[in-house]
Amino acid sequence: MPELPEVEVVRRGLESHVVGRTIDSVQVLHPRPVRRHLAGAEDFAALTAGRVVLGAARRGKYLWLPLDSGDAVLAHLGMSGQMLVQPSGAPDERHLRVRFALRPVDGGAGDELRFVDQRMFGGLSVSPGGADLPPEIAHIARDPMDPLFDEDAFVAAVRRRGSGIKRILLDQTVVSGVGNIYADEALWRAQLHGDRLGTKLRRTDVLRLLAEVRAVMTAALDEGGTSFDALYVNVNGESGYFDRSLHAYGQEGRACDRCGTAIVRVSFMNRSSYFCPVCQPRPRARRAA
Ligand SMILES: [Zn+2]
Repeated sequence: MPELPEVEVVRRGLESHVVGRTIDSVQVLHPRPVRRHLAGAEDFAALTAGRVVLGAARRGKYLWLPLDSGDAVLAHLGMSGQMLVQPSGAPDERHLRVRFALRPVDGGAGDELRFVDQRMFGGLSVSPGGADLPPEIAHIARDPMDPLFDEDAFVAAVRRRGSGIKRILLDQTVVSGVGNIYADEALWRAQLHGDRLGTKLRRTDVLRLLAEVRAVMTAALDEGGTSFDALYVNVNGESGYFDRSLHAYGQEGRACDRCGTAIVRVSFMNRSSYFCPVCQPRPRARRAA
């Protein structure tokens, strides 16, 4: 599943390849990716064809393309979504779902923005009047890479919550864009167990964790940036994760890079958490009242 750094790589790709372009025509090849556009595929195409793309923005894992109509194309990559820029006439990808034909620039060859999604958990919709910030995602918190991210508000929000810090990191109303992998990696780096309660963390713990979240994301972003290909606005949504030097996530049974103890896996919200039982001791159980 693409996490925030991958989505940011896509945003940058859209910024350099699609912003400023006019969408000549739109073809929806499968209804499912536009299911959140309740007025239907034809309406989706009608609202986007002929429009100029003015920007490429992101809030958490959502992307949007502000249009000159004041609307926006809102996109989520889901588990397997990709945004590709391909020359017109390039063979269709097997899981091509939506095709935006882009008007040629300066007599050059035409190209297309393609939304490709095998599993179709992701999708596109038009957000009416959503050019500045689509109302559908206005509730989502800024992510730690956002220049306007409010550290003090984050610390306060964490320390108000009586749930485990990992659960808080995954709460998109507190901080967006932190998925399971980056949460486990940042907690390992900060030497905090994910079950530590927000209310029990010191301000310095939260700030240290936030710094590690940023460090993990920055490292991933740098890797995503290096695999960037001119034709591919996106790197493959599934690529890259396991090329990275992961210290905790997926490392069950392997020696902790800090202390040598075997990394432990436990189930967590239908997924898994990985941690070092020595570097990241579990919080002591509360005494029965
Ligand atoms: Zn360790």
